[in-house]
Formats: sequence, C-alpha cells, structure tokens
Amino acid sequence: MTNNNRANVQSLLTSLGIKTPPVDVELVALSLNFIVLPCDLPTIADGRMEVRDGKKYIVVNQNHPRVRQRFTTAHEIGHFVNGHDASTYMTDDAFDYRKKDHQQEKEADRFAAELLMSRRFLERDCLSFTLEELVERYQVSSEAMNIQLSTLRLFPKHAK
Ligand SMILES: [Zn+2]
Repeated sequence: MTNNNRANVQSLLTSLGIKTPPVDVELVALSLNFIVLPCDLPTIADGRMEVRDGKKYIVVNQNHPRVRQRFTTAHEIGHFVNGHDASTYMTDDAFDYRKKDHQQEKEADRFAAELLMSRRFLERDCLSFTLEELVERYQVSSEAMNIQLSTLRLFPKHAK
C-alpha cells in the first residue's frame, strides 16, 4: 500500500460519508462517474474498464461470486485513481495478467484491499470480531481478508 493509495481511499470514504463496512463499491464507482455493469464473461475474465458512447463502465463477471465482483470493481477503480495508462488495463483476466505491468496490477490490488478493508476500519473491528465475522462484515473473500490482515499486521479476535 502506497501512501498515495491510502490517502486516495481516505478522501473517497470521507467524501462519500462511508464510516463502516461493507463499503458500497458501486457507490464509489458512481462518484467517479463509472457505471458498474455485470456481464456474462468467460470464467477466466475478472473485468475491465470500458468507455462507450462517452460513458465509463466497469464491466465485471456476473458469474463470479459477489465478493469477487466487489474486489474486481475496486481493482478497476484503483487503476483509474492511480492514473494508470488505459491501454495496459483494458481487460483484467488470469490469462493476460502475467503479460501486463505487474507494478500497476499490484498497485490496483492494494488500492482495492484498502478501499474494501481500510486500516482505519480494521484496526477498530479487529478488537470485536473474529476472522469469520470480519469476512462477513466486509463482504470480501477469506483470502482477501487474510492478505489484508497480514499486510497491516493485524489480528482478529479469537474465535471461542
Ligand atoms: Zn488490473
């Protein structure tokens, strides 16, 4: 997580009045004039950013679990907020992930993690919630939550 990413996330959350999880990622997209469009994409594809008739879309794979669609949306917002060159992130999928600029993909992933599971929220919530409860509360995958907790060096409450 770059400081830039964290500052971007905090200003977005503050300006939208988002004070608790789960973060309404469609609302965040809308505030940046993106329409989130779930589409029937091949399983391998996560999503992409698209400009059509002057409108900006974040296309996500409707066949993926809801938590993954949320992460993909946040990831695409991360590309936009970080000012990445559109030609390098037009489509995000497991197949061409390797070909692309890894630095930008990591940056977009870190932005997505911070947007959906910001340090500010997690520091507080780790005192009261178990890992399972956090996953439910933030509407993210267990994998994404585990990565973010370890990045932030935070530990959830122990399950009884
Ligand atoms: Zn990407």
